Parts: sequence; C-alpha cells; structure tokens
Amino acid sequence: MKQNKQNRSRGGFFKIIKKDKHTQARLGVLSTPHGKIETPSYVIVATRAEIKCLKPSDIKKTKTQVVIANTYHLWNEALNSKLETLNKSKTQNSKTKTFLLKKLGTKLPTMTDSGGFQVFSLGFGKENKIGKILNAHPVDNRLAKSIIHRRKNIRISQRGVHFLLDGKKRFLGPKLSMQIQKKLGADIVFAFDECTSPLDSFDYNKKALERTHKWAQESLKYKVKSEKLSGKRQFLFGIVQGGRYKSLRIKSSKYIASLPFDGIGIGGSFGKDEMVKTIKWVIPHLPKEKPRHLLGIGKIEDIFNAVEQGIDLFDCVIPTREARHGRIYTKNGHFDISKFRNISIPLEKECKCPVCKAGITRRKLYELFKGSDKEKQKAQRHATIHNIWFFNNLLEEIRKSIKNNKFEQFKNKFLKQFRPQP
Ligand SMILES: [Zn+2]
Repeated sequence: MKQNKQNRSRGGFFKIIKKDKHTQARLGVLSTPHGKIETPSYVIVATRAEIKCLKPSDIKKTKTQVVIANTYHLWNEALNSKLETLNKSKTQNSKTKTFLLKKLGTKLPTMTDSGGFQVFSLGFGKENKIGKILNAHPVDNRLAKSIIHRRKNIRISQRGVHFLLDGKKRFLGPKLSMQIQKKLGADIVFAFDECTSPLDSFDYNKKALERTHKWAQESLKYKVKSEKLSGKRQFLFGIVQGGRYKSLRIKSSKYIASLPFDGIGIGGSFGKDEMVKTIKWVIPHLPKEKPRHLLGIGKIEDIFNAVEQGIDLFDCVIPTREARHGRIYTKNGHFDISKFRNISIPLEKECKCPVCKAGITRRKLYELFKGSDKEKQKAQRHATIHNIWFFNNLLEEIRKSIKNNKFEQFKNKFLKQFRPQP
C-alpha cells in the first residue's frame, strides 16, 4: 500500500526503548540534529526564543532537553533576518547555528509551533475567558453564539486565516507557516492547523477539521519541497484536532496517522476533565512508532495522566509563568512565596537545583521579590530556574519509574504527596 510505504518512520528519529508493563507509558529517545531528547519529556516554552528571566547559560542548569518557540511571535524577526538558516548550502553541516539557537544563546534541540494557535485565539480567547481548557460545562449556547460572532475579528478561508496584527492586515496559512518555521530552523516543526474553541458546535468543528486536514497535506508538501532544495532536515508533526467530539477525533487520528509525518501532535480543545478521554479516543489510531506530543498541557496531574496513556512530549507555560508570579513548586505541592516571608527554609528541602544548592531560602526569595526592579528580576530568575528544574527532574524520575516498571506506584505516591500548601 502506498500509504504504508509513505508512512515508514524515517531513519531512527524516534526509538522506543521500553514499554511499561502495566500502562501505555513508554520510554524513548528522539534524535535531532542538535541533540537527543529522552522521552517522556517536558518541552519548555521559549516564546521569543528565550526563556523569560533566564540567561542563556542558565538553561542547561535546569535539565532542559528541548524548548518550543512561537512562530507567531517571531514572525517579523524571522522573515526580516539576514541569517540564512537553512537555505545556504547543502554542504553546511546540521550543527550550524539556526536563527533560534543564535537567539537562545545555547545549543539544544528546538521546536516551533505553526503560529495557528495564537492567530485563531484572536477569534475567541480573552474576552470570554476561554482558555485551552474549558471550565464551563456543558456548552452554553449563548456563549457559543458570541464566540461565532467574535470570529468576525478573523476571516478563515480554505487557504488560511486573515487577521489584524498591529493594525495591519495579515494572513497566515500552511505555506507561510512552513516558510517561517523553516527560517527559524527548529529541529521539530508543526503543521498548520485550525484550533477551535471548546464552545464550537459539532458542525463548526467538522468544517474546521476538513481545513486542518487539507492544511496538513499542504504543510507536508511545502516541507518536502524545501527540504529537497536546502538538504536540511526538519521533523514535521501533524496535528489531530476534532474538539470535544469522539467521531471527529477518531476521523482526524486516522487521517493524520495515514500521512508521512514524523510525529503526531494532539491539539486542544478539551473541556475540563476531558483530556484523558480525548487521548483515549486518539491513541489507538496512531502509529506506535511515532512520537506523540500533547500541545499546551503540563499541570502535574495532567503530566502523569498523559504519560500513562502513551504521550511522549508536552509543553506548557506553567513552570515559567508561575515562577514569575512567585509560585514555587515542590514535591509537597506548590506555594506562594508571599506566605513565607519570615521563614528561612529552603525553597524545597533537599532540592538539587542550582538555586536551592546556593542556599536561597524562602525568606530571601520573598525579600528579592519585594525589592527593587533589579532584585525582582533576580527573584524571578531564581524562581524560574527552580521551577523548570523541578518539572524536568520530575520527568527524569518518571522515566526512571517506567524503566523499572514502577510508573503506577510512582504516580500514586507522587500525587498523594503533591498537595497545594496552606
Ligand atoms: Zn530548588
């Protein structure tokens, strides 16, 4: 069959090392031109190709294996840049610094999203407080109507999406998304897809899915073409959509699985508590040998549930964004630094992150947060390093538990201990 031939995974990009005996969890390695990623792995968000509050030299100290940057936010910079990241010559070796790595200031595997999520969010997002996870349940039809109304902010055609950015008319579709992502030069890139709102109807999702599938084909086509021209490899993940609808999710899984993508992304939106249900609809239809990335998910409990279902990668702003606001993660839960203003104990007992090892206490961190601008920046840097290290270290422990067939025990033990602190 033609599709099967197409569908063969390419040259050892992803290798599964071990499967858990009791769950769907799996241990693997992704080999990219800029290094290996042991999976399951957290993907740290570096929106504009920098991790907010960190110096380039801090990144490696946080056990970070891979970062994801946003195509939407780097758009202008990338297209205006004189850096020829992928086009130059076929003899240029793959370790040449890409646009992303120059900005990051350190070498490690990178990813970019397609820019679709941000663009489509302009059509719903903020005003109605629709996040990636919907809290309102069941669907409120009045809200749904207002969402459709809001889509007037953007116009979606078969080619892509028209919208306003900085007062200027802009357009983003699969071809341009792939061009920008090529310019950015990430090791792993994503196909352009339509993100719907959790409040969208079945009919709307059905139409959006047809566009997503068309764009998946086109993204692949553009990628293959540019790869031939430049001789440079980028691994492309297709994205399964379908909103909260089982039949659409299954249809999308089968379709995306039939195409020669290097990996599969699973896009939102889910209602609250619907994440596991959605993954269970999708996973059985995906090729086992390809890596799976759950987009925009990364709360502690969600991490365990996703890994348990066979997810290999996920990205989320939680470790970094919350650190900047003074929320510190520990094995006993997270706490707000303002509650520990007079307590000179470590951020986390026995934590081996560079900040705790340097003896920064909760009290010290609180004082820095409340200090001058410069001190606050320092505090945010400390908190960010600790939190990223915490999440990456947790994933390291998860990998160890899968290796030892103890994932379930580890999950239960960890979640029992992890509770919000007073
Ligand atoms: Zn620490």
